[in-house]
Amino acid sequence: MQELVAWARKVREDFPILRSLHPSGRPLIYLDNAATAQKPLAVIEKLADFYRYTNANIHRGVHWLSQEATQAYEAARERVAAFIGAASEKEVVFVRGATEGINLIAQGLRRVWFSPGDEILVTQAEHHANIVPWHIVAEEVPISLRPVPLTPAGGIDLAAVAQAFTERTRLVAISAMSNVLGTEFPVAEVAAMARERGIPVLVDACQAVVHRPIRVQEWGVDFLVFSGHKLYGPTGIGVVYMRAPWGEKLPPYQGGGDMIRRVTWGGSRYAPPPAKFEAGTPPIAEAIALAEALRYLEEKVGWDFIQAYERYLCDYTEAALQSVPGITLYGTARPKGAVWSFNIGEIHPHDVGTFLDQAGIAVRVGHHCAQPLMDALGVAATVRASLAFYNLPEEIDQLAQTLHEVVRFFAHTPSAP
Ligand code: PMP
Repeated sequence: MQELVAWARKVREDFPILRSLHPSGRPLIYLDNAATAQKPLAVIEKLADFYRYTNANIHRGVHWLSQEATQAYEAARERVAAFIGAASEKEVVFVRGATEGINLIAQGLRRVWFSPGDEILVTQAEHHANIVPWHIVAEEVPISLRPVPLTPAGGIDLAAVAQAFTERTRLVAISAMSNVLGTEFPVAEVAAMARERGIPVLVDACQAVVHRPIRVQEWGVDFLVFSGHKLYGPTGIGVVYMRAPWGEKLPPYQGGGDMIRRVTWGGSRYAPPPAKFEAGTPPIAEAIALAEALRYLEEKVGWDFIQAYERYLCDYTEAALQSVPGITLYGTARPKGAVWSFNIGEIHPHDVGTFLDQAGIAVRVGHHCAQPLMDALGVAATVRASLAFYNLPEEIDQLAQTLHEVVRFFAHTPSAP
């Protein structure tokens, strides 16, 4: 374990922001990684270097700089394809983020896939990004969402998944890991069940992609989305994986430059995928910097370390939190990433968050864009501490100690009349 912590200390030095002091003068303890992760210097410099040395628009230029930029952008696509185990880089579409990715797929499927009365099988733990786009589709084609209930520990039972399929199920759209509970869902097994029934599968890998290698072909999924900013890359860049025939089947999401084969006054013919889905000037620098984040993760930090250390941090955090009187932890099922949601007695999560902030500890409080899950848990909000490989055990000790102070403080503070 000492070796793992030593490596975490070492890679932590790659993140300049983690040396910041909170305005109180205390060191920043950043435990809001599920909202967005911090960026290593390699990514920050890649972004700056693009603008310093390579900036030009891509695909359309015959000049040297445009070709350099195009090459770097397309190399980023290849890196992403290898990162998720896609059969071809043509199956990788760059978008603004996971949210835009699911909207792109939803609007495409609305036009070529759904009929009134169709159902989409989801989990009870979906982020609003995998709920609202389907509600928007439903305004035009009346479809409905059928959520698979979670186990009391926050996992998914395959028998419950089997029960949720009906003859109207037309898509399975599930997250691979809950952003609230951190629990991982059995994507490969659910995808196999869907495949037996000839139903396509969309995976929201926004959280899972940070915690474990993604293998789209082994999982046998049709679509997968994630955002770059949770994966130590920049904001404004995300990925849609679209298994080969879908790129041909789905209509474009937006129209404009770079996505066409031929335009006349009479109409437009579209470029083949992935260009078909990338209208206009894409986030070029961000895609290139995302590829740098993947290189940094795979080549410098290493998946073996990330997974082993996160398991350690997850257990360490659970034990530390359980020492806090009156705490309720949500999502104890394993496997799980180092994301812990909790409440302490009747203390309002926002009060806990503010108290922690005064101690320099950044956590997230609220419904975490998962209101249906909050309803299922019977709470309006939770406190969420989400860890990354650069967090250290002493930061967790500090979190637990401050939570003990929160409990003492509120025990002596009469509640408002
Ligand atoms: N899905 C999940 C599981 C998430 O955690 C998030 C971000 N909180 C999203 C989707 C949406 O990601 P973005 O806001 O980057 O589009």
